[in-house]
Amino acid sequence: MTARILVVDDVPANVKLLEARLMAEYFDVLTAGDGHSALAICEKTPIDLILLDIMMPGMDGFEVCERLKANSRTSHIPVVMVTALDQPSDRVRGLKAGADDFLTKPVNDLQLMSRVKSLVRLKNVSDELRLRAQTAHTIGLQELARLDRPDEPGNILLADGRASSQERLVRALSPIAEVSVISDPQAALFEAAENSFDLVIVNANFDDYDPLRLCSQLRSLERTRFIPLLLVTEQGHDEMIVRALELGVTDYIMRPVDPNELVARSLTQIRRKLCNDRLRASVQQTIELAITDDLTGLHNRRYLDGHLKLLMDRAGARGRPLSICITDIDRFKRVNDTYGHDAGDEVLREFANRVRATVRGADLACRFGGEEFVIVMPDTTPEMAAIVAERLRLMVESRGFDIPRADTVLSVTASLGIASLRPEGDTAEALLKRADMALYQAKNGGRNRVVAAAA
Ligand code: GH3
Ligand code: MG
Ligand code: MG
Repeated sequence: MTARILVVDDVPANVKLLEARLMAEYFDVLTAGDGHSALAICEKTPIDLILLDIMMPGMDGFEVCERLKANSRTSHIPVVMVTALDQPSDRVRGLKAGADDFLTKPVNDLQLMSRVKSLVRLKNVSDELRLRAQTAHTIGLQELARLDRPDEPGNILLADGRASSQERLVRALSPIAEVSVISDPQAALFEAAENSFDLVIVNANFDDYDPLRLCSQLRSLERTRFIPLLLVTEQGHDEMIVRALELGVTDYIMRPVDPNELVARSLTQIRRKLCNDRLRASVQQTIELAITDDLTGLHNRRYLDGHLKLLMDRAGARGRPLSICITDIDRFKRVNDTYGHDAGDEVLREFANRVRATVRGADLACRFGGEEFVIVMPDTTPEMAAIVAERLRLMVESRGFDIPRADTVLSVTASLGIASLRPEGDTAEALLKRADMALYQAKNGGRNRVVAAAA
């Protein structure tokens, strides 16, 4: 893993020390001696992580952190506060300023490397999603910044073997989250998979059960692998922490648990989770936009081009039938000419609704372009396809199309051509072409009819 880390401290000896340790692990290190130059570097250089001293003359670490987090260009950079003062109030103030973590001086090597690596890993994931979302232009920078500030309370699952600590942790977390508590680790795994939690906290205090087993199972299940995982562990259990972080545990906290630290750490994890969820959803949405026809909500031609071939290959490999239907609205130009383009659009939308109502879930309905639509029907023989096409023809003809803006109800008809997959050497182009020829015959034969291509 390589990353560019900015070390900020007003004491040159401290900078040198951290720089040397990080460079020994092949990180790319930049340094700054005060808050202003740190902010300037972040403005013009991409930084993956900041180690930030709190006590500095001029602008202190809290203020630097607040400014970084308030700027949409730098708010996504993880900040680790480094302080000589091992005081809970300092940590909490830092985490409230938006810091993602903190380390106390003298910096312990395990803590330094584990925190740096887990934050860099987390940043890699959100960078990737952020990049895709940006490339797709679905959300602007403004909206990305907002992602970091959830307002709803989170849902936390607490797996904890002891009643006394359950009670303490639930009390600490109650201002920020709904907490579900479970004493049995296997039941916790089931619970996490069945519900949608924003964070799972595993307290390493079970009798006769290795808490890392639960962590590893949570990381491998499809439904739980993206949920942040916070491990509560004993002071000095460094080996367990190292293994936990390798397994993908997102953060850890040591006993005795400081309630403020627990709240701040949990909030950071929940924030990340919401941010990543939203980015993932926006990527999903982008994909959907790219393959969906704006006007009708059906799939578009681009999607058909890619997917028809797949469906044909699958049908061919399994020796199953597949049929397609091309339909074109009759004399559609007249609708536009008489009632205007908007009325034409209204007809197209209603036509798409009737197509949708006719086909099965497994069928693929697309707007092929203009007033032409294609329906791909897997597992459908030519005889069945003819029945489906006839049903659609009737659906269109039998009920008028309501055009409220023109205060009228239009009679609409369509012509349909169908063709079926040939057992040998068929291609998507050839299949579409045969259906199109059949459609042409339907038009020539007087419109408002179904014609099947010769097998
Ligand atoms: P035919 O029965 O031979 O199919 O006659 P037609 O008038 O339906 O066929 P033609 O291909 O001559 O005209 C299709 C019309 O569809 C022309 C075009 O302006 C219109 N059209 C294509 N896309 C859209 C659209 O998105 N909205 C609207 N309102 N009209 C569209
Ligand atoms: Mg037409
Ligand atoms: Mg046409």
